[in-house]
Amino acid sequence: MSRAEIVVDVAAIRHNVRRLAQVTGTPVMVVVKADGYGHGMLPSARAARQAGASWLGVATLDEALALRDDGDAGHLLCWLTVPGDDLMPAVARGIDVTAYTVAELDALAEAAVRAGRKARVQLKIDTGLSRGGSTPADWPDLVARARAGEEAGSWVVTGVWSHFASSEVPDDPANEAQEKLFREALDLAHEAGLRPEVRHLANSAAALLRPSARFDLVRCGIAAYGLDPAPGLTPADLGLRPAMTVRADLALVKHVEAGAAVSYNGRWVAPAATTLGLVPVGYADGILRSAGNRAEVLVAGRRRPVRGSVCMDQVVVDLSGDEPSPGEPVVLFGPGTSGEPTAQDWAEAAGTISYEIVTRVGGRLTRRVIDSGSDNEPDDGREN
Ligand SMILES: *Cc1c(COP(=O)(O)O)cnc(C)c1O
Repeated sequence: MSRAEIVVDVAAIRHNVRRLAQVTGTPVMVVVKADGYGHGMLPSARAARQAGASWLGVATLDEALALRDDGDAGHLLCWLTVPGDDLMPAVARGIDVTAYTVAELDALAEAAVRAGRKARVQLKIDTGLSRGGSTPADWPDLVARARAGEEAGSWVVTGVWSHFASSEVPDDPANEAQEKLFREALDLAHEAGLRPEVRHLANSAAALLRPSARFDLVRCGIAAYGLDPAPGLTPADLGLRPAMTVRADLALVKHVEAGAAVSYNGRWVAPAATTLGLVPVGYADGILRSAGNRAEVLVAGRRRPVRGSVCMDQVVVDLSGDEPSPGEPVVLFGPGTSGEPTAQDWAEAAGTISYEIVTRVGGRLTRRVIDSGSDNEPDDGREN
């Protein structure tokens, strides 16, 4: 064990992927972009495949190519190329690329010629997020060009997809509007002669909260790692297990008197004599500074509040008179099943979402991937 580390249990990822397929009744694309949401892209991807993920999804071409280099040969979609990206390796290696514009299709046609094989392309319609994707106004031209390219033998259009803006707020009328636009876009694609293998719209929250949005495939990121996909929808409610634990060894324990000002600028002043613990991780390791004076950690069986500002390399916690030995394990966050805070607790303390907590943690922390095998135990809950 190292002084401060991220521990990832791939058994939890396998369990979650199976659980998501079972709950949604839909094939699952496990999204492993951003180094598997901080869990390690390759181990997360392998765990997802072992659990039956029929697709993997990533943002960039580099991420997709790294999966192929690791030996992954399954369906794989990427969705964030930029002009000048060489699409030829993606075509050559059977990676599905996403096109938002006719210009991207033109570049893809040229890459397919160089690769000496047909590309696999998915078309994205922007139904209201106003991020990537074709606007509804440009959609007819995009599907016409896509169909022409199919007829010319440049590619197969394997998918049509879109992405929600507010899926974690199921009552937001934007969800209904986006789904309606998506259905219209699918109709236009069909009329243009396209017959995609997969039509997909839902991320984790929509996959769980909006059955009408499941179509042929659900794209699950956060839920595959066992984190809350929406406010009030806890992993325990869903039968999911957080896969990541962040722990450190307590560096120092000391007594301070009443009035001691703790950490930079004395943003916490001890109201009475207490004991303080020094945790050797800080914002350079992705521990958000905005969690200062708000988050908690688990030490010696109890939650201990962070006192004062989070520093670059260190955090001070209040041990309230207890005197655990230096070297005692500190759990910053984990599954929450042993009393430790969760990534969601840290997100609330820091005023952000759990996605940011797990993707930011890193810096000097080492990552240790374990396989507890807990997804093979009789109480794994697959029958639920
Ligand atoms: C990141 C991402 C997802 C996964 O979203 P979660 O909310 O983590 O399930 C799905 N689709 C697209 C396009 C994404 O960028």
